[in-house]
Amino acid sequence: MSFSNLGLSDKVLAAVAATGYTTPTPIQEQAIPHVLARRDVLGIAQTGTGKTAAFVLPMLTLLEKGRARARMPRTLILEPTRELAAQVKENFDKYGAGQKLNVALLIGGVSFGDQDSKLTRGVDVLIATPGRLLDHTERGGLLLTGVELLVIDEADRMLDMGFIPDIERICKLVPFTRQTLFFTATMPPEISRISETFLHNPERIEVSKPATTATGVSQFKVNGGREPHEKRELLRRLLRDAKDLNNAIIFCNRKREVAIVHKSLQKHGFSVGALHGDMDQSARTAALDQFRKGEIPLLVASDVAARGLDIPAVSHVFNFDVPHHADDYVHRIGRTGRAGRNGTAISIVTPLDSKSIAAIERLIGKTIPPAEGDYTVHSEQSEESEQPREHRAREGSREGSRGRRKRREREPRHAKEHARSPDHEPRHAKGGSRNGGSQAPAATARVPSIGRPEPRRAQRETESEPADHSHLPAFLLRPVRARV
Ligand code: AMP
Repeated sequence: MSFSNLGLSDKVLAAVAATGYTTPTPIQEQAIPHVLARRDVLGIAQTGTGKTAAFVLPMLTLLEKGRARARMPRTLILEPTRELAAQVKENFDKYGAGQKLNVALLIGGVSFGDQDSKLTRGVDVLIATPGRLLDHTERGGLLLTGVELLVIDEADRMLDMGFIPDIERICKLVPFTRQTLFFTATMPPEISRISETFLHNPERIEVSKPATTATGVSQFKVNGGREPHEKRELLRRLLRDAKDLNNAIIFCNRKREVAIVHKSLQKHGFSVGALHGDMDQSARTAALDQFRKGEIPLLVASDVAARGLDIPAVSHVFNFDVPHHADDYVHRIGRTGRAGRNGTAISIVTPLDSKSIAAIERLIGKTIPPAEGDYTVHSEQSEESEQPREHRAREGSREGSRGRRKRREREPRHAKEHARSPDHEPRHAKGGSRNGGSQAPAATARVPSIGRPEPRRAQRETESEPADHSHLPAFLLRPVRARV
């Protein structure tokens, strides 16, 4: 099957050819002819399946005829997050380069006035998050009565975020006769119900089972102990040990945790950005851009902020927290192993996560194996493990032999090795593979681009400032909970 058999216009086919894609993905192959035939579509597909182009390409073809009128958009696309909305706009920019279509983005965190003047000029494609869209309709600056085609994307995410009442209100503002395309990764009962009210005799297209994980992703779990600082230390060890780590997303369950983990990793010299719903739009966009360009290899994110983002070639996903909903696990690890690439997903599991991890394993139909290597967490370890190693090493030289012996007893083996070997020589035997089942543990060199090289950091500290914190009470050395 090639794109030319789907009924797309010549302009759109030329734009697709320019991107280098030669074969439509299953969702594209199945959805595009129905969209062009003006049918409603219920698409059950995860991100990473090419679902965005499955609606963008036929929309561009349909929009070649006709013109937009002021304040009356011809088509409307609803997205749960600003980032996803911006990403869909990028798709229109990419595939619609040869057409003179007006595409507008109505998202929070951007000036109302600019958005309003764009609406006045007439819009062919309006891409919006529900809240901001309703703000505009309530102010009277936007009429949805001219909408011929409505796309509801990531519907299950809309449900999680509490947007369904807004979507129901919006659906009452668009003509009953419009065409509707409805995409969701999973089909919980509530989504089933609303899809029945929003869609008329839809063509149902399901490209993979709603809750299957990508085959190219190697999944592991490690025991994370009970305390947050233990989990943070474990995360650092996992990052340092990770084989072939090119870039990674680290997922946390809560915004507050995102900020804490981000700060903690920064403090330990890692090059890292953060993405969560409380950050202002410019900070979110900047973090995402830097991550996409590879300027920062690590991104700490919440589910809401990272859902569905198209970040090609993420080599690793870390679940700092096991997600409460098993579906979220599937979405998270869907960030890696995309487009036939291999990826690794590692989850830090605490005793409190036993129910969640069991639900995940039931959903994906397999048991997640433990990561190879010694990731034992010693729960009696104190908060001082949060301090950069240099501090600990220095403190070690001041304490008496009894203190040193006590520390030796309670420090995990890796931490001791780190302290001895500041440049992190690979600790495991060479030639093994992390994913290789019974093989020896992998040779895992420190990835220099992920964190600033520590020897230099140590040198800088000794050169420029005394960095003697030994007189300070321990609580002053604890990581600061900074707002990102
Ligand atoms: P999506 O599921 O829309 O997030 O798309 C996932 C990724 O697949 C994006 O990076 C797209 O650019 C890419 N993609 C879309 N269509 C194709 C195709 N036909 N062949 C290869 N990659 C594609």
